Amino acid sequence: MTASAIITAGGRGVRFGDAAPKQFAALGGKPLLAHSVETFSSLDIIGEIVLVAPKDWVAQAEKEIAGIAGSKVSRVVPGGPERQHSVENGFNALSGLPDIVVIHDGVRPFAEPSLIEEVIREAFRHGAALAALTAGDTVKRADSTGLVETTIPRDALWLAQTPQAFKHGLLKEAFDRARADGFVATDEALLVERIGGSVKLVAGSPYNIKITTREDLVLGELILSRLGAGAKAQANKRGE
Ligand code: C5P
Repeated sequence: MTASAIITAGGRGVRFGDAAPKQFAALGGKPLLAHSVETFSSLDIIGEIVLVAPKDWVAQAEKEIAGIAGSKVSRVVPGGPERQHSVENGFNALSGLPDIVVIHDGVRPFAEPSLIEEVIREAFRHGAALAALTAGDTVKRADSTGLVETTIPRDALWLAQTPQAFKHGLLKEAFDRARADGFVATDEALLVERIGGSVKLVAGSPYNIKITTREDLVLGELILSRLGAGAKAQANKRGE
């Protein structure tokens, strides 16, 4: 089995008071997007990574990842107006024809290698798979004034994360059909669902947060110190 990754960091959302998009914000002394590049590069199964950056930030993204040892980034390509266009640009820039394409948000720095590998394995079995969390809180639907209309039974509800992985041909068909229909989704799994493909959920991690606000960045630093301490303990056990 072969797999290529698309790390999508083509959004223009800036953190409060910052000039640069949030994927360039520093976490643990390096830009957010560098964390995912490092993790995916460390996986044997990943042959190539295409990184997507906002059009006028491609050169900066190249600079930010230039020093990463063992980086598997083959190209940094410009993003599009919506996430789906950015991912499709990344998809079109892949140099080979891997069995599996795995897509990951550049603003989710804590996806564990074991989770990424499991999502890839399940995509190989089912066609498509993604990391997701079961809904722990009761879910309400409300009108625009904040008055509750209904409570949605939560036992079958999952919150989608990335990584999301797909057989190459299935993802190509999903993109082609979405483009033909003018359909735009907030994740690639939906593009496969709408053409009748099976999509397998893999239990994700509460640490695999998407960093979108300054508060998330504070949480991110806490998670980093916690995961960093765990990694150190593992290394000590191995006598490193
Ligand atoms: O803001 P959102 O949840 O859509 O962002 C998820 C990921 O998609 C981020 O890593 C963001 O940089 C990326 N994205 C993109 N191109 C866009 C919008 C978002 O690559 N046009």
